[in-house]
Amino acid sequence: MKVSVDPDRCYGSGECAYRAPSVFTEVDGFGTVLPGREQTGDEPEVREAAEHCPSQAIRLT
Ligand code: SF4
Repeated sequence: MKVSVDPDRCYGSGECAYRAPSVFTEVDGFGTVLPGREQTGDEPEVREAAEHCPSQAIRLT
């Protein structure tokens, strides 16, 4: 499953990088998926990060 961040919804809370630092990071104050980590949507910590994103910006497709 693919994971991505909708830049129009993210407001840079940092929650995703805190919960799953091997997948997410912050660039210019906004959450983003690390290069090469786009196919990690099935990992438990990624699902947890998506559930806790306060703006529902994390997409699992
Ligand atoms: S948890 Fe959501 S709002 Fe916060 S930085 Fe990550 S994608 Fe953006």
